[in-house]
Amino acid sequence: MDTFRHKGLRNRLVDDIAKKGIKDEAVLNAIGAVPRHLFFESSFIKFAYQDKAFPIGAGQTISQPYTVAFQTELLQIKTGDKVLEVGTGSGYQAAVLCEMGAKVFTIERQKELFAKSSHLLPRMGYKPRFFLGDGYKGLPQQAPFDKIIVTAGAPQIPEDLLTQLCIGGLMVIPVGSGNVQVMTRITRDSESEFSQEQFGQFVFVPLLKGVVK
Ligand code: SAH
Repeated sequence: MDTFRHKGLRNRLVDDIAKKGIKDEAVLNAIGAVPRHLFFESSFIKFAYQDKAFPIGAGQTISQPYTVAFQTELLQIKTGDKVLEVGTGSGYQAAVLCEMGAKVFTIERQKELFAKSSHLLPRMGYKPRFFLGDGYKGLPQQAPFDKIIVTAGAPQIPEDLLTQLCIGGLMVIPVGSGNVQVMTRITRDSESEFSQEQFGQFVFVPLLKGVVK
């Protein structure tokens, strides 16, 4: 259930991440709208509106709200954008994208997380399309995408994802094989040309190959 108290806590979280530098009003509104506490077990609800990552089981985490906002801002989401998310995890990032009016396709390699998120989000009114699979390969049958967001640390940029981007499309991906990744935005300038920008260091769980049933 969502209440005025939760809404109040969310408003404070929005102020927090705005102070940390997030400016896109649509992103701030989405963080203010998605009931993040519903992604937590009831005994951990008090952590839901802190600007921190948190364990969600299966060795994975729900990303820090600031990181979600940062990646989403870099994606320059417009209503109707077709977006691929690699790393569904809790489903929170997918919910934020749906809240902004994107058409979301999200892929997760761990069955347990796929099952949980694909059950939870529709009950909250968010209806991305969920896929169980290896995000390194993307979703060739649903491509091309206006935007691609990778929410796990990639040792290198997956070739298959580049080919699934529209011309003029953007991909936001944390790149690095150590404990720290560099937030990277790739623009597909033409069929064969891509440009890259870098936006500082972040810490993500690693992008791994294969599917865990
Ligand atoms: N976006 C998530 C955060 C996810 S943490 C959220 O909002 O909660 C990263 C997720 O990426 C984990 O759930 C992990 O299992 C998943 N992952 C890692 N490698 C992957 C791959 N190759 N394909 C799909 N998902 C992957």
